[in-house]
Amino acid sequence: MTSKPTIPIRCACCQANGLHRGRGLINACYVRHTRNGTLNRFPRQPSATWMPVTPKGRQTLTDYAALVAERATPTRIRWVLSLSERQLQRYANAYRTLTAAQAEDRSAA
Ligand SMILES: [Zn+2]
Repeated sequence: MTSKPTIPIRCACCQANGLHRGRGLINACYVRHTRNGTLNRFPRQPSATWMPVTPKGRQTLTDYAALVAERATPTRIRWVLSLSERQLQRYANAYRTLTAAQAEDRSAA
């Protein structure tokens, strides 16, 4: 079994400094909340969505958005942009995240 390296944190529960076990908790609190069935008070943090950072990647995301607006099929988008299946999923996630954030901005305004 592989495990992530533990990093020092301030516990989300008791504010003590210690090594991260999961959900922002140190091991003692993680174990205690697991035993007491109260781990759901500390929901998992969603991992950050991949975003293109290079100019070419950002252009590909712009092209992806244009193809989605044209209602192109995923197969066509992959072919036009020369993407692998995994790359297509990443651009789809990035696009969804950006459009959801824009929709939130509009509703907040
Ligand atoms: Zn704690």
